[in-house]
Amino acid sequence: MVDLLGRAGYLDEAWDFIQTMPLEPDATVWGALLGSCRIHKNSELAEIAAKNLFKLEPYNSANYVLMMNLYSVLNRWEDVEHVRGLMGAVGLKNRHVFSWIQIDQTVHVFSAEEKPHPEAGEIYFELYKLVSDIKKLGYVPDVNCVYQNIDKVEKEKVLLSHTEKLAITYGLIKMKSSAPIRVIKNTRVCSDCHTAAKYMSLVRSHEIFLKDGVRFHHFKEGKCSCNDYW
Ligand SMILES: [Zn+2]
Ligand SMILES: [Zn+2]
Repeated sequence: MVDLLGRAGYLDEAWDFIQTMPLEPDATVWGALLGSCRIHKNSELAEIAAKNLFKLEPYNSANYVLMMNLYSVLNRWEDVEHVRGLMGAVGLKNRHVFSWIQIDQTVHVFSAEEKPHPEAGEIYFELYKLVSDIKKLGYVPDVNCVYQNIDKVEKEKVLLSHTEKLAITYGLIKMKSSAPIRVIKNTRVCSDCHTAAKYMSLVRSHEIFLKDGVRFHHFKEGKCSCNDYW
């Protein structure tokens, strides 16, 4: 109910519902409220939800990321840094982000922190082409996925370096057949990569499977099996 009300924009009603629940709200309930607050940019209720979530599941990085996302949309950079600090305090700061793809018998790992893939030049060359093609179809980079106080052009560059984009692009270069591309990522896919993957499946007529830290996504002909819910 909280999710249903919240997603539809009835945040006050969702909040009333939580307050009158006969049960103690758990992380699922607060998570639904936080997710809805991010969509509708309501920082007041988001902060209440986040406070509870940080207590109930301090090691779930997704909650911190949602708050950083909301604050960055609202240009509240000090608050972004505060949440980043909270993450660091519980030891989540240094979690490395990886994406994998298997081509023939070799597993290729794309990491945000470690040295670039040996074919990085070719991959970026193809990715720039891909992004320019999908922009013609309506893709707009979601710069709100970058939680750094830098300008829009720089943010678009940061988005290009996301490991799942690099792994999918590598798959598109290497997979000569129409066999689907299968990528695994250890953390939750960001909404920009999710949108880009939908367009990539359309523009290259290629099915893409992405298993992220939370869910399974099957991108085909511009749509995802999760119906944008993850
Ligand atoms: Zn991303
Ligand atoms: Zn999806």
